[in-house]
Formats: sequence, C-alpha cells, structure tokens
Amino acid sequence: RTASQVAAPGSKGPGGLALVAAGKVRDLYDLDRDHLLFVTSDRVSAFDVVLNEGVPNKGRVLTAVATWWFEQTRDVIENHLVSTSVDDVPGLSAAERETLAGRIMIVRRTRPTSVEWVVRGYLAGSGWKEYQRTGGLWGQELPSGLEHAAALPDPMLTPTTKDDAHDLPLSLDQARERVGDEVYAQAERAAMALFRRGSEVLSQRGLLLADTKFEFGLIGDDLILIDEALTPDSSRMWPVSQWQPGTNPPAYDKQPLRDWLETLDWNKQPPAPVADPAVLERLSLRYVELCERLTGRRLSSL
Ligand code: ATP
Ligand code: MG
Repeated sequence: RTASQVAAPGSKGPGGLALVAAGKVRDLYDLDRDHLLFVTSDRVSAFDVVLNEGVPNKGRVLTAVATWWFEQTRDVIENHLVSTSVDDVPGLSAAERETLAGRIMIVRRTRPTSVEWVVRGYLAGSGWKEYQRTGGLWGQELPSGLEHAAALPDPMLTPTTKDDAHDLPLSLDQARERVGDEVYAQAERAAMALFRRGSEVLSQRGLLLADTKFEFGLIGDDLILIDEALTPDSSRMWPVSQWQPGTNPPAYDKQPLRDWLETLDWNKQPPAPVADPAVLERLSLRYVELCERLTGRRLSSL
C-alpha cells in the first residue's frame, strides 16, 4: 500500500489495526479503547474528486502543520493530540514504521459534535455565494456592496453539518439545537478564539486566513479540539501580496493543481485525469514551502 491509496473499509491496517474510517485524505484506525490512530496520506482532491496519484510529502506536511498548531493553541483549548511517534504504535513492522513516520497522530478518542465549526474572516467560496444571494451570511446581516474576497467587519461563525456527501449550512440556532446550549457556547468561544489566533500568526508570515473549519469532540463533559486545525486542507490561506478585493485570490496550496486541471478538457467528474508528475512535484514543493513558512521547520528535520 503506498501513501496515496485508499484503504478499503473493514480492512486491517498497519500493525493489524482495524480501519474505523477512510476520509478523502485520512485513514483512522482503532488503537485502543481511548485512542485512535490517524494516518494522513498523500492523497489530494480537487473539485471534490480524489486523484489517483499522491502528492509527495503532503501527508507529512499536514501532520507537521497540524501538530505545530496544536502546540501553539493549547492555551486557547486543549486538543486530542497524544503523540506523533511511530514508537508509540504497537506491532508495526520495519516497513510500516518507515511508511508511517511523520504522517501519524495518536489521538484521544472523543465523541465528535455533529457540526463543522466554520469561521470566516473574508468573503470567499460558499460564503461569497451566499452573500450574493442574500446580502448576509447564515442569517447574519452584513453591509451591502462587499466585494469577492473582501474582509468581513468581524470574523463570523458559519457552521455546517458534517455529512458524508456535502456539508449543509446550519443557522446558529440550528447548530445550537444540535449540540445543546452548553457545548454550543464552548465551541463558539473556542472557534472564534482559534480563528483570531490563527489569523494573527499567519499575518506575521504574510498570509491571510480567509476561512477555516474546526472540529470539536467531547470526552465526558470536556470539549476539546480534534481532527486537524489550521492546515491548508482545512483552511483557505491567501498570500497578502496576492489579495485584492474584487478578485478571487489563488489558494496558497492547491493553485498549481487547479490551474493545470483548468487547462484540461475534463468535466470535473470521476475518474480524475492522470496527473502530470511535474504538477505533483510543484504541488509538493508548495506544501513543503508552506510548512517551513509556518512552522520554521524544514520537512527534512521532522
Ligand atoms: P473528508 O475530510 O474526506 O471530507 P472527513 O473529514 O469525514 O472527510 P477525515 O478528515 O479523513 O474524514 O477523517 C477524520 C474523521 O475522524 C472525521 O470524521 C472526524 O470527525 C473524526 N475525528 C477526528 N478526530 C477525532 C477524535 N479525536 N475522536 C473521534 N473522531 C475524530
Ligand atoms: Mg476532514
């Protein structure tokens, strides 16, 4: 199994661990009663279709970036990360250890809230679409005349469902009803505080945080940050230098892929076209560069 193939549900993974779920990018294994093993592959999706080929080192970059943010934000909210060391996973073969090094997280098992806690600082993607239609966002009012990619007066919470196919918008009241008042209050506070922290840190590195998604889970009554946070896969980051309201700034990470796909005669439906290795290499460099820009650590030293 290479780092880019999708694991079949029910199959056994590294160390004979049972697969719990395979997302577009990550595979989750059952480690023990209180812990899960997260394996981040090199898979990449564009226009919601996963390519057959992986982007070299992408899984390692996402793991390094998420880990770095978990360390940076522990004062805002506790998170699920326990270890990133393959030494802490029992029963791995030498080959498995090599494949998995740098791309795993051992995390605390939680009960995830059934909401994706999306926060927006700028008008992009589905936020921009909704603003054009309704003049607001998720039932919350906004000044008229804002342009594509414009900064919002204040960051806004725009939650969605967590569905397999397409996540649907939830009004703030609907999100509150789903999780209960207590959890809602904690999640809202944490999501907004994490967004502010993320924006501050990224702006010091010449990047704007346009929008991002957080997930939270419960252990008993304690709400903690789970999944990944403030990674290029869960966020829209723009280089400040390329930000211009009224245009659609390129996303930092996947732009080379999107640009190349746009040159093809492809209807954006599966199967994905065979990826040009040179494009994958450019993408890989983009991810590695982002990792260094953010964390100050070179991928080779991770
Ligand atoms: P995709 O990213 O492909 O849209 P996804 O987000 O459902 O789908 P992944 O991100 O690949 O899938 O897998 C992560 C899954 O694990 C999510 O369903 C997430 O809610 C869940 N998860 C993350 N952290 C924890 C945790 N600490 N405890 C329990 N579940 C978790
Ligand atoms: Mg995910």
